[in-house]
Amino acid sequence: MQFQFRYTSGLWLFMVSAMIILVLLIFSWRYRRSSSGRCFIILMVCAFLWVSNFILETASLTLAWKIFFARIEFIGITFIPAMWFFLVREFTNRRILGDNWLVVLVIPVVTNVIIWSNPLHHWFMGTPFIISDTPFPVVDFDYQWWFYAIHAPYGYLLIGCALMLLLRSIPSMNGVYRMQSCYLLVAIILPAITDVLYVMGISPVQHYNFTTAVFSISGSILFYSLFHFQFLDLLPLARDSIINNLYDGMIILDHKDRIVEINPSAKGYLALEDSAIGKEFMQVNNEMIKKVQVLMKENVEKGDIKIGKQAPTYFDVRVNTITKKSGTHIGRVIAFRDITERVELFNQVQALAVQDSLTGIFNRRSFMEFSKREIYRVLRNTGYAVSLVMIDLDNFKAINDQYGHRLGDKALVTFTTTIQKQLREFDIFGRVGGEEFAILLADTDARTAIQITERLRTAVEALRIQTGKNREVSITASFGVVSSLQLRKKDIEINNMLDLADQALYEAKQKGRNQVVLVEL
Ligand code: GH3
Ligand code: MG
Ligand code: MG
Repeated sequence: MQFQFRYTSGLWLFMVSAMIILVLLIFSWRYRRSSSGRCFIILMVCAFLWVSNFILETASLTLAWKIFFARIEFIGITFIPAMWFFLVREFTNRRILGDNWLVVLVIPVVTNVIIWSNPLHHWFMGTPFIISDTPFPVVDFDYQWWFYAIHAPYGYLLIGCALMLLLRSIPSMNGVYRMQSCYLLVAIILPAITDVLYVMGISPVQHYNFTTAVFSISGSILFYSLFHFQFLDLLPLARDSIINNLYDGMIILDHKDRIVEINPSAKGYLALEDSAIGKEFMQVNNEMIKKVQVLMKENVEKGDIKIGKQAPTYFDVRVNTITKKSGTHIGRVIAFRDITERVELFNQVQALAVQDSLTGIFNRRSFMEFSKREIYRVLRNTGYAVSLVMIDLDNFKAINDQYGHRLGDKALVTFTTTIQKQLREFDIFGRVGGEEFAILLADTDARTAIQITERLRTAVEALRIQTGKNREVSITASFGVVSSLQLRKKDIEINNMLDLADQALYEAKQKGRNQVVLVEL
């Protein structure tokens, strides 16, 4: 059978349409691993079969070839409504028919069998013939009952179901998804309307079914809507299993910083609802998100965030920008990890290194460290003076022996708080031995130091420590003082000053305890 064909005017439109569909098909191939990507690819294959064979059917001159191409066209035509249905089902996430979704394909498959076996029974076509009074050879297919009663109604039924499903889902959708569904709606309705108009005989050029041409427009809208917005669908595996089970909180933003996904951990940490999906990240009113917004505005990729005042929670936050190989920004992943335990442990360890565990004041090491800094100030500024006071509790061994070590500890704590209350914020107070303490009085000359220390001595003397019901004991302490003004510059050094104050303290003990002595040089 010889194949003859002739270009008829207007066919260019369908050729362009075929090219567009082919290009969309090529571009969508890389999305084949996602379910909506697969639906789109099959839809485009069907559309391509339809439009390309429509061109061949229209251009060929003999009836036999026209019927042959029409049969191939029908492979595309019969499956398109089912693919619309699958696409909407996928998009709206409504698992209609569950695992039995293949039943939707039964009628299209049977229709194709009937079309190819038509000469045996003529259920689909009667006796097709070429209409002679047209500008180009057009076939009247003489459709039979299967076409009118089964094929066409079934196709419209599926498209109707798809539209219903989509329309019912739109109200519950947010922001970006709602927009996407509107695009999808237009993509389905456009060819459907064109097809209905054609069937009703309303077409710009008689005998041209423009539906195939409109399909390239639909395909382009769909392509944009599916792959431009829903880039995450490309990684369904990562999205479902990894992100959902992640202990870390994760929020995914699209290229316009709209929330596309919030994983269960993030919902828990931030007390966010699903309704936040689709919203602009910068508009969300949430303590944590506001702090992340600050990081993002400053273009910081990593930071620690503190949430809440009493019993705060700490998060380690990372903002990663996702770019294509070409450098185009396609979104962001905000990941955050609860590091409260780590921060609290760190704070404890840090405090342990500085504080004395019983009294909470500086331990020996930190007392020395801070005092050294203060003494450097004396060396730098003439006229600036400090004084050092050494304290040792009197006959403390006896208190321990009489009342026990625990009461001794209690006395040490009470003593510390009493002294601390008398001191100024910038004085440095530390426990340098068992019941030995030291104070570096900042900006204090010898005379003032004696006055302050005398006040401390009376405060300690006045202390009463409960030893039992209605029973109490008092304590006293001895104080040795040295002032930087008493020393030559080279002798102004913390260890030397401690020795000298200790010397004065020894003298105070010698003099009968509960005394303040300034070192004599
Ligand atoms: P003095 O007046 O000469 O200082 O007599 P003292 O008994 O206080 O003598 P000394 O300073 O040498 O005695 C230190 C005693 O302080 C020994 C110990 O029983 C007691 N002590 C040291 N550290 C602690 C502590 O952390 N808790 C308690 N409860 N007692 C301590
Ligand atoms: Mg002692
Ligand atoms: Mg003592």
